[in-house]
Amino acid sequence: MTGFFYRINYLYKVEIAKKKRDIRAFTKEQLRTFFETNGDQPFRGNQVYEWLWQKSAHTFEDMTNLSKKTREMLHDNFVINHIKVDQMQRSSDGTIKNAVRLHDDLIVESVLIPTKTRTTACVSSQVGCSLDCKFCATSRLKRMRNLNPDEIYDQVVAIDNESRLYFDRPLSNIVFMGMGEPLMNYNNVLKAIDKITSPEGLGMSPKRITVSTSGVPKMIRKMADEEVKFKLAVSLHSAIDEIRTSIMPFNATFTLKDLREALEYWYQKTKSRITYEYVVWDGINDSQKDVDALVQFCRFAPSKVNLIEYNPIDDGEFQQASNKAIERYVATLERNGITVTVRRSRGKDIDAACGQLANKS
Ligand code: SF4
Repeated sequence: MTGFFYRINYLYKVEIAKKKRDIRAFTKEQLRTFFETNGDQPFRGNQVYEWLWQKSAHTFEDMTNLSKKTREMLHDNFVINHIKVDQMQRSSDGTIKNAVRLHDDLIVESVLIPTKTRTTACVSSQVGCSLDCKFCATSRLKRMRNLNPDEIYDQVVAIDNESRLYFDRPLSNIVFMGMGEPLMNYNNVLKAIDKITSPEGLGMSPKRITVSTSGVPKMIRKMADEEVKFKLAVSLHSAIDEIRTSIMPFNATFTLKDLREALEYWYQKTKSRITYEYVVWDGINDSQKDVDALVQFCRFAPSKVNLIEYNPIDDGEFQQASNKAIERYVATLERNGITVTVRRSRGKDIDAACGQLANKS
């Protein structure tokens, strides 16, 4: 070994010795290097990587094809910061909510939503949220930190296991609609999706994954440039700036014009239809003027609108609009050739529905 490489090797070992690192922050190549520099075979890195991601090992003791000495070496150098499902609640409609404890004892929530044909995981990307949507329970929690890629991945694995156990089928879809704004934790969300879609992870199709954002124009452009393969949904809720700013105050910074331009760019690059998540509230966005503004906003690209039933949070400031108002939305959107679905809420009795996630369990 040359002096240079000897020194690199030495510094590497000193760095590792200082503090145990989360082993799942390491790439396969880095793990191979670790074993090589510690006098073992590089292929051990492949074996450990497989245990960590494909087999979701919680401890080094679980890695039964490694020798005791190798497992001890891993133990001396690394930790596996696995999540723990602290509490699981089941709704009368079959929905399951997990309260997930992270290695630093913070809690996030994730939800399994079963239908006749599919099982969807709704996962969190941040602890709390830095945005301040007035209708959302999570906005009342201070943003504590971003989730790491492995913490996002673990939520999906936990729900996949529950889906197999309670519904006898694997998880089929994932939506990033839990706690936090995924595009404010962009790098980690993308790393998690890489693992979820990789054959060395869960091997899921990116077409079954939807990242739902409240609309961060700069990051939507970045996703378009990176030609991501998953789907995009935007929580729009109003196509009139004044109203949108009153319910989603960050709209004063990221205006509808900026959002629309970013979405136009997304569509030019990806040719992928845009889904809008939209709640209609009584007296807020339930007039014909609101529907017309939405139709105008959708015109530039093929769009789909999901009208989501609202689940009141404690203070009752926001109330679901009347059936008549919803029917007006549906009729006007359909007349203008825009696909629309009305989504009933799931898991209301366990506070697992859209906008209700706030660690109350
Ligand atoms: S709706 Fe989403 S972006 Fe808005 S506060 Fe809630 S978690 Fe954050």
